[in-house]
Amino acid sequence: MKEGTLPVDMGVVTFNVETGWDIYRAFVTGLPVTERLVTVSGDCVKSPANLMVPLGTSFHQVLQCCGGLFSPPNRILSGGPMMGEAIGDENIPVTKCVGAILALSAPKEKESPCIRCGRCVRACPLRLMPLELYQAVKTKNHPKAELYSIRSCNECGLCTYVCPSRIPLLEVIRGGKGALAAKEEGGTNG
Ligand code: SF4
Ligand code: SF4
Repeated sequence: MKEGTLPVDMGVVTFNVETGWDIYRAFVTGLPVTERLVTVSGDCVKSPANLMVPLGTSFHQVLQCCGGLFSPPNRILSGGPMMGEAIGDENIPVTKCVGAILALSAPKEKESPCIRCGRCVRACPLRLMPLELYQAVKTKNHPKAELYSIRSCNECGLCTYVCPSRIPLLEVIRGGKGALAAKEEGGTNG
């Protein structure tokens, strides 16, 4: 498959089970997506659970439904431990993109300079060079980001997970992909 293309470009669409169920329900009952199955976990959560949550419910309300928190968390992630994004406000709503909420006591570890150990490269399942992508995005070098196939990144988070310098590789790469997409959209519209 050509880099940057999606399965749909090849005439193939893949769904997870929940999306399949949503489509079935939409056809059978006419109902749109109004709720999402959310895993609520993390060492700060009193009663971790999987909950069916109406869209629009705040993260705070969801956490309260799990008995509240043992102590104020240092980080709340929207998403799992590998791919999740830290959120700054508990009052943001659950959207159809939220599959997990994690409330963690461990603070974000301090980032230090890259030591060129190559662990992120060895860990990448797509054989990308996360450290080069990171540098390209940080320096707004779009041609370099494209040269190193930023669009192929599937945002698995492995590079961030293994980095001993605690560099938020995925966060930056994801931002770079977004910036490229926005640039293209602007170019298309303009
Ligand atoms: S997040 Fe992207 S760059 Fe990092 S390991 Fe996964 S596919 Fe590779
Ligand atoms: S794993 Fe981290 S420290 Fe090692 S090369 Fe990659 S970015 Fe640099």
